[in-house]
Amino acid sequence: MTVIIDGKKISSEIREEIKQKVEELKKKYNAVPGLAVVLVGDDPASAVYVKMKGKGCEEVGIRSFQHILPGSTSKEELLSLIDKLNNDKSVNGILVQLPLPDHIHENDIINAISPDKDIDGFHPVNTGKMVADVDCFYPCTPAGIQELIYRYVKDLKGKHVVVVGRSNIVGKPVANMMLQKNERANCIVTVCHTAARDISVYTKQADILVVAAGRANTITGDMIKEGAVVIDVGVNRITDPSDSSKTKIVGDVDFESTAAKASAITPVPGGVGPMTIAMLLFNTVKAFELHNK
Ligand code: NAP
Repeated sequence: MTVIIDGKKISSEIREEIKQKVEELKKKYNAVPGLAVVLVGDDPASAVYVKMKGKGCEEVGIRSFQHILPGSTSKEELLSLIDKLNNDKSVNGILVQLPLPDHIHENDIINAISPDKDIDGFHPVNTGKMVADVDCFYPCTPAGIQELIYRYVKDLKGKHVVVVGRSNIVGKPVANMMLQKNERANCIVTVCHTAARDISVYTKQADILVVAAGRANTITGDMIKEGAVVIDVGVNRITDPSDSSKTKIVGDVDFESTAAKASAITPVPGGVGPMTIAMLLFNTVKAFELHNK
């Protein structure tokens, strides 16, 4: 029987633990962690994500500060807000929702966030620390992926993890994290991307396959080994095959054929997605503890 890894359930267990932690911190410091979320422009998907992050904070007792700016905001104006948030003691974490409008270069903004408030884990200081295996803020989606893998596969030592995708947001950090020498990793890691002539040469070798390609049906059942654990990171909106007037969200993996061969698989939606916000809340609490040390 294939296990469907329930990211929603695991995420809500983690949120409950975070809620209790926030209550303890409130008693100890007479203060609660604060997360500032900055949205520039009116991209509907980003607006939904920002709303979900605010709701997630509220549920666990984290203070949420939302800064919704018009798409015409200049880089200087945004940098000035980041500077203010960097110096605001009630703000422990700063998240700038990506993508930004074309006239603002993402790296200019990410690099301006104080590394000790970079709860998204995108600042080069945190990236460098992650690669060097020094305590830092891990990027939220890769941290959620690792948590799902660790909860399902207890003995990870020597397992072959194959990652499809090499983005800075998902593929590269997941690969780095699963390579570390600790009980949540210690894996043999292969990363493949569009330069591979045939990715199935690699994916068929995976004990654990992480797919972050951003394309529906990148992986089908014939491309995996019997009994593999499959983590589908993709979020793709496609025309609903059963009703062409509607759309639906699918992952990067053809669920039916892959689930028939896998020992465990994450669904889309309800797999990796819910874990991302749980890890964001986790990192915000971590930042609060760091600031109150
Ligand atoms: P991205 O920046 O577009 O990167 C995609 C990567 O996949 C690239 O490295 C690309 O290779 C590789 N790739 C694409 N098609 C491939 C193929 N057929 N064979 C091999 N490699 C292939 O995407 P991303 O930001 O990493 O996101 C990946 C997916 O995860 C997207 O669907 C995104 O929406 C989703 N996502 C979900 C969450 C969540 O919370 N659930 C969070 C972040 C992202 P090249 O480098 O050679 O181009």
